[in-house]
Amino acid sequence: MVEIADSARHILDEVPQGVIVVAAAKTRTPEEVRAAVEAGIVHVGHNYVQETQAMINQVRGVTWHMIGHMQRNKARAAVELFDMIETVDSLRLAQEIDKRCAFLGKTMPVLIEVNSGREPNKDGVWPEQADDLARQIAGLTCIRLQGLMTMGPFSEDAKDLRPCFRATRKAFERLARLGLPGAEMCYLSMGMSSSYRAAIDEGANIVRIGTRLFGPRMSGQ
Ligand SMILES: *Cc1c(COP(=O)(O)O)cnc(C)c1O
Repeated sequence: MVEIADSARHILDEVPQGVIVVAAAKTRTPEEVRAAVEAGIVHVGHNYVQETQAMINQVRGVTWHMIGHMQRNKARAAVELFDMIETVDSLRLAQEIDKRCAFLGKTMPVLIEVNSGREPNKDGVWPEQADDLARQIAGLTCIRLQGLMTMGPFSEDAKDLRPCFRATRKAFERLARLGLPGAEMCYLSMGMSSSYRAAIDEGANIVRIGTRLFGPRMSGQ
């Protein structure tokens, strides 16, 4: 727990002002996440709705980000739990979130997930498809489109990811210029433990960090 607190302080010191550090909490215990929060982390991301449900009452006072692939049948639970959904990649999912938010009288900030590496079987829209989806989403009443998110291909070498980050940033800037009513392009979520410095260089103002904060995960997750 001491190591987690030290890492959290180190990362928070290191990132430039205005960059939001989201602690990626998958596979971690509430105690581990609390250690990061006590050291200053105020944004927590999770990939799974059920695990978040189990953790949320034990980690207070933070902003919750959905960062995993979201099934539509989880939208109802997700809109109750999360303060931002970073992984919207279809109109149907956006419509479901919108409908569930309408029931709750809530407005949900969302990001569009971009498959910046154009990988088959990976979630997210291609960078040039973001405009069309943004136009459709921006019209929904209970959703506020606030930016883009990308993962990029798996690589230990951040250099490999720079072209993907750049493509996502270009799409982000293009969308900002469109000035769609109902959208305000303010967040670009890119970069993880091995790539957040490169991502910040390329314009990210949200980075999602797991391993460097909490230590290695068991393989396969
Ligand atoms: C796990 C995860 C992260 C953090 O990955 P690390 O390499 O452990 O920092 C970031 N974003 C998403 C979407 C994740 O699933």
